[in-house]
Amino acid sequence: MPVPLLDLNRQNAALHGELTAAFERVLRSGHFILGGEVEAFEREAAAFLGVPHAIAVSSGTDAILVALMALDLQPGDEVICPTFTFFATAGCIARAGLVPVFADMRADTFNLDVDDVARRITPRTKAIMPVHLFGQSADMAPLLALAQRHGLAVIEDAAQSLGSRHHGQASGTIGDAGCYSFFPSKNLGGFGDGGLVATPRTDLAERIRLLRTHGAKPKYYHARIGGNFRLDALQCALLRVKLPHLPAYCAARRGHAEFYRAALAGLPGFVLPAAAPGNEHIWNQFTLRVPGAGRRDALKQHLAAHGIGHEIYYPLPLHRQACFAHLPPVSLPVAEQLAGEVVSIPVFPELREDERQAVVAALAAWAA
Ligand SMILES: *Cc1c(COP(=O)(O)O)cnc(C)c1O
Repeated sequence: MPVPLLDLNRQNAALHGELTAAFERVLRSGHFILGGEVEAFEREAAAFLGVPHAIAVSSGTDAILVALMALDLQPGDEVICPTFTFFATAGCIARAGLVPVFADMRADTFNLDVDDVARRITPRTKAIMPVHLFGQSADMAPLLALAQRHGLAVIEDAAQSLGSRHHGQASGTIGDAGCYSFFPSKNLGGFGDGGLVATPRTDLAERIRLLRTHGAKPKYYHARIGGNFRLDALQCALLRVKLPHLPAYCAARRGHAEFYRAALAGLPGFVLPAAAPGNEHIWNQFTLRVPGAGRRDALKQHLAAHGIGHEIYYPLPLHRQACFAHLPPVSLPVAEQLAGEVVSIPVFPELREDERQAVVAALAAWAA
């Protein structure tokens, strides 16, 4: 039985009436940029996260970019980030005129190795950007302690962890700012691109709001250079329909993860992902490791032959990307190993019982 990696229609079909009503409300209002829908979504997102400030922006990428711009760093300042992540993390650091400094990973959580971060701090380091990969937070307490000791800002790339909690606190609300994405494959998937910055800092929130509209204050007077980082009123109205369902979506993913962890526990040849202590994982991805030369790629072929949706997040660490070839060479062995071992399997909320059984059967057949 073919099983998709993700099927957005199942989730959206269940909300068809409400989504259509929200669309018609915005259509009839004739008001499409900022305004009531955006403000209401920001209030609801801030309440969900338990933060004073939430600013809706045009994408997760732009959330990271505008948060970095708001820090007012100097060109050439260094920002430490993981090398095993989606490109936007480091792409935004470079686009903000800063230098990405890549750190290595922990093989058990796919998140930053804090000891390696500490080794990469220099006098030019101004910020750390942990990524909460696949739906659980990096180990924040030692990262914050390190940041405090060296006077560094902490910007969290929480694009994959909206709805997750870390020692009781919403993931992405622990540092100076957290950046979220509503790309359709994220746990709160929008209807196009969208993102959000959450911050406890009033000064940062004000600057981000200013930068979101070309740094204009008042209109047509620009003390700073910003961009058009606005999220559409239409997108906000549609996201307001989905936000109340996010806890249920995350719970359904958690149920699938528990099922996989139980069903795959005895199978040789796989390393199963797990939630780190203190983390409520929201399983944006369920990512297996398949150690052994060529074995991951062999499994990939097997899954393709059985019609089981899968993807490699991510095949090439960022320090090895051609666009960063001008940076000093670094050795990041854990990330290199992970890139050769990982494969993600279907874990979307609406995955059916017979489908997840089919995923397990295909993996069992391969392991046998
Ligand atoms: C999705 C993602 C982003 C970028 O979000 P977009 O909304 O696609 O721009 C950034 N970082 C990580 C880790 C992501 O997964």
